[in-house]
Amino acid sequence: MRQIANFVNGQASESTSGRFGDVYNPNTGEVQARVGLSSEADMDRAVKSALTAQPIWAAMNPQRRARVMFEFKRLVEARMDELAELLSSEHGKVIADSKGDIQRGLEVIEFACGIPHALKGEYTEGAGPGIDVYSVRQPLGVVAGITPFNFPAMIPMWMFGVAIAVGNTFILKPSERDPSVPVRLGELMMEAGAPAGVLNVVHGDKVAVDAILHHPAIKAVSFVGSSDIAQYVYATGAANGKRVQAMGGAKNHGIILPDADLDQAVKDIIGAAYGSAGERCMALPVVTPVGTKTAEAVRERLLGEIDKLKVGISTDASAQYGPVVSAAHKQRIKDYIQMGVDEGAELVVDGREFALQGYENGYFLAPTLFDHVKPEMKSYQDEIFGPVLQIVRADSFEEALSLPSKHQYGNGVAIFTRNGRAAREFASRVDVGMVGINVPIPVPVAYHTFGGWKRSAFGDTNQHGMEGVKFYTKVKTITARWPEGMTEDSAFVIPTMK
Ligand code: NAD
Repeated sequence: MRQIANFVNGQASESTSGRFGDVYNPNTGEVQARVGLSSEADMDRAVKSALTAQPIWAAMNPQRRARVMFEFKRLVEARMDELAELLSSEHGKVIADSKGDIQRGLEVIEFACGIPHALKGEYTEGAGPGIDVYSVRQPLGVVAGITPFNFPAMIPMWMFGVAIAVGNTFILKPSERDPSVPVRLGELMMEAGAPAGVLNVVHGDKVAVDAILHHPAIKAVSFVGSSDIAQYVYATGAANGKRVQAMGGAKNHGIILPDADLDQAVKDIIGAAYGSAGERCMALPVVTPVGTKTAEAVRERLLGEIDKLKVGISTDASAQYGPVVSAAHKQRIKDYIQMGVDEGAELVVDGREFALQGYENGYFLAPTLFDHVKPEMKSYQDEIFGPVLQIVRADSFEEALSLPSKHQYGNGVAIFTRNGRAAREFASRVDVGMVGINVPIPVPVAYHTFGGWKRSAFGDTNQHGMEGVKFYTKVKTITARWPEGMTEDSAFVIPTMK
């Protein structure tokens, strides 16, 4: 059995806890490897390595750190096929989608290649007589990232790309369900020229997460995962004096106004609802057509598109999506479908009984479609995170606007319309962090920032872009004068610019 070890101080390092997690191939349901679940002592070893490396790395000038990022990008691009295959074999998403996962992470690395510009700071000459004021951004030291299973390449790169480029050293605690690609990223970062200890990968579960949250040398923690755990990480990290940003779950709505290009909107929604088996925090699992006529037309088109979808193993290039990540997750999704039925929603298409010939033990689910889902239903209020699309009909623009606005999650939302004024008003008033206008998955580009509102994010800074630079650095402001030799009297009143 293949064993997946930690990557600490530039080399493989077995965890010492004696505890292991199984890593499945979701296509077959077979265990393909096991991963060591780290103890507090394992985490401490990684932190010590990161602590030793940090001053050396931070002392390297920003252009040189950027060159490591350039080389890392080149190495990851050169190994794209190998990495995508590894990612798909543990996650289950189709290869083309795994390449998208890696590419979206690389785009943050591209942003990090420009870090010298982002770190330039501010300067005021002559803020007072002979006084200059300037501010610089300095790294925090050792920082950590805790990531979910659904983007095992992109989300680690969101975090360590920026954190390392600004001069920190990093502990990555990836999901224990698909841990191999994060290790490869750590190895490639060393190959790119980062000193040992700059990027360490420590596997594990709650024990490893708690070790991060309680370790005095870790100054900041970035988390992405489900909301209850995000809130726990946020509260515990903050109670221990750390900077924390913690992104949580989502339930994103696609609003379709009557004047939208319905053919295009439905094609967009189908991809966003079922792509990656719905296991995306920016998926669109709710569609809200406005008015009965729109709803009927959308429903008819959705049925036509669902009919054409092909579910297959992750290496099947003709499949639109593959299995979900685990047997437990498959069961959870099936339970939510049953809950929808029990709550009185209309189950229009039921994907529960699907089995892929030759892969009967894989975690496959065919597309499921519900209509007449109501806001008071728990199956609407909760995140299902599977290939399940719910139609929640609205009678008016105001009602459609209120649904995502009142929902506990506020990650993303999309509106489909040809009316610029309506789209503008929607974008301005909706209580959600990321808005798409005729764009189904509005994940911002790397030099903007990613983050939801309400229970989709705890903390006050987004991922990547300048928000990432802000999160991973502290500002130092220097007020300087060079007196000319005349001794001035002591000042007992606070100096002002009056
Ligand atoms: P998860 O919350 O189960 O796991 C996330 C991380 O937390 C993993 O590293 C895991 O090992 C760790 N963890 C699990 N249980 C823990 C516990 N009890 N205490 C401490 N740590 C624990 O999430 P997941 O199933 O891996 O990922 C799916 C979730 O992530 C969905 O809710 C999805 O919406 C969310 N997500 C959010 C974003 C975003 O940016 N908002 C992006 C991607 C995924």
